[in-house]
Amino acid sequence: MRSMIEEPLRRATEAIGAATSLAISCHVSPDGDALGSALALGHAARAAGKEAVVSFGGPFVVPESLSFLDTSLLMPTEAFPSAPEVMVVFDVGSADRLGELRVAAENAGTLVVVDHHVTNDGFGDIQVIDSRAAASAQLCTYLLESLGWPIDETIATCLLTGIVTDTGRFQYSATDGEVMRVAARLLDAGVRPDTIGQAIYESVPFGYLQASSAVLGRAVLEEPLSLVWSYVTHGDLKSASVTYEDLDGLIDDLRIAKEAGVAVLLKEVDQGWRASLRSRGAIDVGSIAVLHGGGGHHNAAGFTASGSRDDVIESIRARLRA
Ligand code: 5GP
Ligand code: MN
Repeated sequence: MRSMIEEPLRRATEAIGAATSLAISCHVSPDGDALGSALALGHAARAAGKEAVVSFGGPFVVPESLSFLDTSLLMPTEAFPSAPEVMVVFDVGSADRLGELRVAAENAGTLVVVDHHVTNDGFGDIQVIDSRAAASAQLCTYLLESLGWPIDETIATCLLTGIVTDTGRFQYSATDGEVMRVAARLLDAGVRPDTIGQAIYESVPFGYLQASSAVLGRAVLEEPLSLVWSYVTHGDLKSASVTYEDLDGLIDDLRIAKEAGVAVLLKEVDQGWRASLRSRGAIDVGSIAVLHGGGGHHNAAGFTASGSRDDVIESIRARLRA
């Protein structure tokens, strides 16, 4: 653990330890890191005799690929307290990423933010934020260890899921000895790594193959910009009987083209396009996302924009030329 988070971690431990009830959340459309961290704290808090509610802003849908986690303590968004005593949020870079639970965060007695987004805007009362941490689940592990709350197999599975997904199975640049040591402690707690691997990486619906073939088949390589991009429409989802959630892994298929340093996948949404951006090495897609009202990390980021597909991709091209 890096010394910069020692003091916020101490304050978070104090606030959480003293609370009788915890309201726990994460960003909308939660990924493995967001949901895994939130559930881990929820389970540990309950085991420690606290009241704990875990939810996230709507649409309140648990991604199928994460349904193997113990989600028994999840409550629908509406059941979340409107003015919690202590609220803890994971993997949330700015309050708007809480969706409608932003209001609860504003009303909370104490708001603890546990995050590793380089674009985090510093909201909340206590900030356990380290952009060099590979996952929010890594920071959540420190928090549980600091609270002295036991990490059983259920909790360790939630945490390791966050670390495995956010490190791209221990492959991305944020993977260091420290996150490996944290993962080792979680494995020692009894996690089955094959359960996580199969649930997350080897269980797509058959329609994924069809949608993937359509989307990858129309990918465009723009070598001067070192850009590869493609798009998914509502029509693609319908004809392959899949949802966007089923296609979460698609950006990882697009990004492997070695001619491109940046990969962009545009997904048609009601109000325009949702962009997922990935890069290799020095190219900072996080700042491109921020300029479009989104956020993320240096090598992985996203935003939603109104306008036509051509407008959105042209706006990204303009940033890559700059
Ligand atoms: P993805 O492309 O997988 O949806 O997102 C990649 C990364 O960017 C994730 O870390 C995610 O949290 C972040 N991200 C995606 N969309 C947004 C957004 O609209 N706002 C912010 N602040 N971060 C985003
Ligand atoms: Mn994360």
